[in-house]
Amino acid sequence: MAKRDYYEILGVSKTASADEIKKAFRDAAMKWHPHKNPGNKEAEEKYKDAAEAYSVLSDPEKRKKYDQFGHAGVDGSAGSGGFGGFESGGFNDINDILKDLFGGAFSGFGGFGGFGSNQDQGPRVARGRDIRTRVNLTLEEIANGCEKEITLERNRPCPDCNGVGTKNPNDVKTCPACNGTGQIKQQTRGLFGMGMGYTVSTCQQCGGTGKLVENPCRKCSGSGLVRKKETLKVNIPAGVEDGVQMVVRGEGHSAGKDGINGDLLIVIQELEHENFKRQGPNLLTSKKISIPQAIKGGEIEVKTLDGSVKVKIDAGTQSGTVVKVKGKGLPTGNNFSFGGSKGDLYVQIEVFIPKKMSWRDRDLLEKMENADSFKVD
Ligand SMILES: [Zn+2]
Ligand SMILES: [Zn+2]
Repeated sequence: MAKRDYYEILGVSKTASADEIKKAFRDAAMKWHPHKNPGNKEAEEKYKDAAEAYSVLSDPEKRKKYDQFGHAGVDGSAGSGGFGGFESGGFNDINDILKDLFGGAFSGFGGFGGFGSNQDQGPRVARGRDIRTRVNLTLEEIANGCEKEITLERNRPCPDCNGVGTKNPNDVKTCPACNGTGQIKQQTRGLFGMGMGYTVSTCQQCGGTGKLVENPCRKCSGSGLVRKKETLKVNIPAGVEDGVQMVVRGEGHSAGKDGINGDLLIVIQELEHENFKRQGPNLLTSKKISIPQAIKGGEIEVKTLDGSVKVKIDAGTQSGTVVKVKGKGLPTGNNFSFGGSKGDLYVQIEVFIPKKMSWRDRDLLEKMENADSFKVD
C-alpha cells in the first residue's frame, strides 16, 4: 500500500507557503475531524492523515527532510502497509488550530492531534504501544539503500483465544462502570468562558477496553495478548540521514481484538567510515600525492564508496587543495532510481613530504636545494 504524498493529502502544491498549508489543514480539520463525524472511521483516517501531513509540512526542518527523502518504504512481506515518514510533532500548533475551530471545550486534547490516541472522542479504540528501535547503517548501505532484518519482541493477539481474552465470546461483558466506552467523563468548569467542559480519564475497572472478561484464557490471562519474538524485513531507502526516524505503520505492539497496532519507529544511526566523512549528500575524503605528482599534475586514482575514480589534478597542486568529483556522493532523495540526483565527493589533496630519506636520495635533495625552481621568494 503506497502512502500518499503529504502535499497531495492537503491538496497544496509543493511550493505552497506556510499560510497556504495552514489553511489547507484547517479546511481538512473542519471537514474530517472526529468531532464533526462521530463514529465515522473513514473521516477519522482522513483527519489523521491530514494531521500527520500538517505536522510535517508545518515544520520547516521536517518539511525539508520530507522534500528530500519522501516517505520511506517497508517490505510487503512484513504485513503492514505504508511508512509514516518522519517523527510526528507540531501538536501545539494543531491544538491551537483546533481550539480556534471548535472552541475552548477542547481541553485535555493531548495527543489526539496526531496519531490515533483517540483521547477525546466516543468509544475508545485501544491502540498498541509504539516500539522504538535503532538501525546501524554503513555509508555503503546508505548510498544504495538496503534491506534490514529487525527482530522485535512485541505483543501479538493470543493464538488460543484470538485476542479476545477468553475462549467463549459470551464471557466478554460490557464494563458496567463505563458502559463499554472505556472512559470516565467528569464535568469541569469550562475554559475560555465557553460554559461547561469535561475531562476524560481511562476507566479503572476495565483498563480502558470497555469490556470485562469472565473465565479468562489461560495462555494470556485474559489480556488477549502474548509476547512474541518476530523478525521483519524493512527497506531502508537510499540517502537517509543519521538521526532520522522512520515510522513503519502498524508494526508496533498489538492492542488485542478490535484494537489497532502501534507503530514501529526506526531511528537511523550512521556508522563511522574509515575513508569518508559525510556532509549531507556530500562525502569528504583525503588523498596523498607525491611531490613530483603535485608539481607535474596529471591523473590520480581516488577511492569512492563503490570503487574508485580517476581524477585530474593541475600542475602545481598545493597541499590542502580540494578537488570536487561530481556525483560521487550520496543520493539526495529516495527516488534516486527515478532520476534523483547525487551529492559530490570532495577530495582534499595532501602532498606527501617524506620524513626521512635514503643516502642515495640525498643527492636529489641537494639538487633541489640549488635549483631555481625550488627557491622560495
Ligand atoms: Zn488468550
Ligand atoms: Zn470500564
